[in-house]
Amino acid sequence: MKHIAIVGAGVTGVTTAFVLSRLGYQVTVFDKNRYPAMETSFANGGQLSASNAEVWSSVRTILRGLRWIFRKDAPFLVNLWPSWHKYSWLAEFLGSSRNYEENTIQTAELAIRSREYTFKFAAEAGIEFDCSSSGILHFYQSRSELEHAKKVSKLLAMAGVERQLLTPSEIYELEPNLKSKVIGGYYTPDDFTGDAHKFSTSLANTCIQKGVNFKMQSYVSDINQDGPKIDLNIIDMEEVNHREEFDAVVVAAGIESRAIAQALGDRINIYPVKGYSITLHLMDSISQSKAPRMSLLDDEAKIVTSRLGADRFRIAGTAEINGNNLDIRADRIKPLLQWAETNFPDVRTEFFTPWAGLRPMTPSMMPRIGPGRNSRVFYNTGHGHLGWTLSCISAQIIGDIIHLHID
Ligand SMILES: Cc1cc2nc3c(=O)[nH]c(=O)nc-3n(C[C@H](O)[C@H](O)[C@H](O)COP(=O)(O)OP(=O)(O)OC[C@H]3O[C@@H](n4cnc5c(N)ncnc54)[C@H](O)[C@@H]3O)c2cc1C
Repeated sequence: MKHIAIVGAGVTGVTTAFVLSRLGYQVTVFDKNRYPAMETSFANGGQLSASNAEVWSSVRTILRGLRWIFRKDAPFLVNLWPSWHKYSWLAEFLGSSRNYEENTIQTAELAIRSREYTFKFAAEAGIEFDCSSSGILHFYQSRSELEHAKKVSKLLAMAGVERQLLTPSEIYELEPNLKSKVIGGYYTPDDFTGDAHKFSTSLANTCIQKGVNFKMQSYVSDINQDGPKIDLNIIDMEEVNHREEFDAVVVAAGIESRAIAQALGDRINIYPVKGYSITLHLMDSISQSKAPRMSLLDDEAKIVTSRLGADRFRIAGTAEINGNNLDIRADRIKPLLQWAETNFPDVRTEFFTPWAGLRPMTPSMMPRIGPGRNSRVFYNTGHGHLGWTLSCISAQIIGDIIHLHID
């Protein structure tokens, strides 16, 4: 039986382990953290959303970013402090805007295909992840945003995403708890939500039962191809180095995939694009009944929301080009709280958990799923703002590629 190593136990690494184990491989997953899904897959927006497949690399995003450059509460923020990686990444991001339409369509197609695999894997593994299949509602408060959404809708329709244009009264009928003034919106009935962390940890447990080995608190410091074998150097929790040999390796290391790829002679230009979330703990029955029933997307504020069970309301958003740092800034959390208070004033906001995560984002916003220069090295990484949405289809694709290459 061929033995495959996976670097990273985020949602991408865990779903990859599940698929490879299903295909009959022996699998070992390495992660530097004590538990799976402790980094970007921990407290994201929870949306599995083909309707949010629009890539950000467009002239429009860049112009908005420039307009907001000195606003601390802006949805999109760039720290102007010079760094070669930051500015070269931004230049490539700008260049990728010429492929905005095809990349948006391709991402939406992948997101649609991922729906089926997410439900299939969850059913097969018998896991529960606070899934809600009531669709996603995008709402708009400005004419220009709504006009832009109409253009995006045409692209999404080309990929097969079903979106229904709604009047304000139809929006309030669908989401009676929404209290702010809206001028229109779109509803995508087939999109859904769920807790990426719960999904990843439960799926990891199923993998363990099926014989997958999870080596936690194990940092992969070096990967070498030695003939037909892959040699990994691992630093364990006692800071002891040891080497292990595999038939292949899959790099699913989130924001660290860039450095690993570089050492292997591959180029994957991933930048850590920071975002924040707050999880409101709905402790009383009024808050539970007055929080949104629908998953929402406010495109203008760049905010996504999910109900995760009866007593959790997740609000996530903002994009910050500010290097590899996970500081939770009060001035970035405040707009998320204010958003809840404005749109859902009857929900109490005193108990909440703030979080910051780093989206592993390529300049084109397209993930890298495929082989590297070395014949036994594979990548499944760079899923940016949609890693939860795309995780199951990406795992299936990389599994099929590996099956073709190494058997
Ligand atoms: C605020 C916010 C909101 C978001 N909302 C959504 C959403 O609503 N829907 C959606 O689809 N996506 C969303 N995303 C994006 C999504 O969360 C990410 O794309 C996804 O979690 C990335 O998963 P990953 O497994 O690739 O990376 P990670 O979850 O970061 O996992 C990578 C793992 O690799 C490990 N690792 C790295 N290097 C090494 C090494 N050398 N040795 C050992 N271990 C290593 C790390 O410890 C980590 O556990 C959001 C992101 C943010 C920040």
